[in-house]
Amino acid sequence: MAKLYFYYSTMNAGKSTILLQSSYNYRERGMRTLVFGPEIDDRFGKGKVSSRIGLASDAIPFQPNDNLFRIVQREHQAASVDCVLVDEAQFLTKSQVRQLGDIADRLCIPVLTYGLRTDFQGNLFEGSQYLLAWADSLQEIKTICHCGRKATMVLRIDSEGRPVRDGQQIQIGGNDRYVTVCRLHFYEGLIERSAEQLPFDDMGG
Ligand SMILES: [Zn+2]
Repeated sequence: MAKLYFYYSTMNAGKSTILLQSSYNYRERGMRTLVFGPEIDDRFGKGKVSSRIGLASDAIPFQPNDNLFRIVQREHQAASVDCVLVDEAQFLTKSQVRQLGDIADRLCIPVLTYGLRTDFQGNLFEGSQYLLAWADSLQEIKTICHCGRKATMVLRIDSEGRPVRDGQQIQIGGNDRYVTVCRLHFYEGLIERSAEQLPFDDMGG
């Protein structure tokens, strides 16, 4: 049976590179892939997935109201689809994660999703929450903190390098930057935050 896969990590772990390599492996064998990327992410131009090491692919932009099952079903009827890949899968809605499950179960097409597990405040994104809940296979893409521990968190920092406490969960193309850190350095970066902003507020002291 076809499966729904979720490859998750913090930022800058090379998710898009792995997605593009996987898509390439299918295409090299004469198979057809559909690559989706969020409409919100136009850093590299709409309808493209790009990686930091220079790989790129055309992508079908998706927005929260798009029915991914219907889009893939229509494409599959026109010409058989062998694999569906989704970049920045944290931006999927709950409904869209369900639709991806239907693509695997009813169209029998494997679905490979790649995304961030948590936002800069340490909370799950909607897409990641339901992928963690419903995917058949969860695979962590590992990267490391500056201290050498595994990096699992992302801090948003301002132009002076200070952690940013407030703001929208989704902010692309602003002046803020992100650093990937271990949990310890995430806590330390957040020390100044108020309790209700922390996901860990009922733990400890
Ligand atoms: Zn660290």
